[in-house]
Amino acid sequence: MSASPAVERRVVPLSGGTPSGSELVITEARGATPGPRVALMAGVHGCEYSSMAALTRFLRDLDPEGLAGSLICCPIVNQVSFRTRTPFVVPGDGKNLNRCFPGDPNGSPTEVLAHEIFDHLVRGADYLIDMHAGDMVEALAPFALYEEAPVEDSSRQMAEAFGLPYVVRTGRSDAPIGGTASGAAASSGIPAITAEAGGRGLLEEDAVSLHLAGLRSVLSHLGVLAGPRPTPAGGRWTVGRFVWLRSAVAGWWEARVTTGQRVGEGDLLGVVLDAFGHEVERILSPEDGVPLFITTSPAVTADGLLLGLGADMRPLA
Ligand SMILES: [Zn+2]
Repeated sequence: MSASPAVERRVVPLSGGTPSGSELVITEARGATPGPRVALMAGVHGCEYSSMAALTRFLRDLDPEGLAGSLICCPIVNQVSFRTRTPFVVPGDGKNLNRCFPGDPNGSPTEVLAHEIFDHLVRGADYLIDMHAGDMVEALAPFALYEEAPVEDSSRQMAEAFGLPYVVRTGRSDAPIGGTASGAAASSGIPAITAEAGGRGLLEEDAVSLHLAGLRSVLSHLGVLAGPRPTPAGGRWTVGRFVWLRSAVAGWWEARVTTGQRVGEGDLLGVVLDAFGHEVERILSPEDGVPLFITTSPAVTADGLLLGLGADMRPLA
């Protein structure tokens, strides 16, 4: 590694197979001393503004003199969904980018986009931090998630170092989803986390601060940033299972609980109403836990995602 610390900023236009207008606005920083290479990204989903803002501000103010190792970063990897204010999916093929990693160079536009992001940012990195928030119609309690993998011990340490109230592990057999960036990275031997704070299409300074503090804390933990690691607040929990609840029918969804609220098995979490305002479905908690995210829009399709319940909770020592 060269001894001269530097920050390089560049815009990389992506191949014709990606959605039109796709590009990666990349910041690459090289520190004065050797150390790991860490990939930082946000904006996999188009309207998760607090995480994008945190990474953008972190990179704007970055001093490479204080770095050991290197960073490769992109604060809005899914420019198309950002520009069109499209939550969850990529316009065109309608796929969720965070179900498509590590991507496919011969696949649909979102799959090609996932491949390009993985290739430019993640492959070749030693660690990945993928920053998210609740999307346009999603409230959440801040959490960091890591996936079952041979490298999961390192991923868990990163998730704990991020300092958020909940640390979620998802197993291979009971994972609610596949194809996440952090899961694909971990499967390729790169310890990785998904960090979630903020939501509902808002730019929230509290959530930006959580992301910034978490980012600095993990980078200190990895030895990339100098300085003492901040001590996270107490009252944190590990979550051993992430249970996603869906509606049976289309209708009008109203949650009866809030994110971060303790619920017991059998408690009423919300209802789905028909067009006349009558209850057609009651959503009961399948076990004790805490809603980590809740869909805030009443509009719900059949099999629509309503709520993510953190379960199998234990105090984080
Ligand atoms: Zn997201």
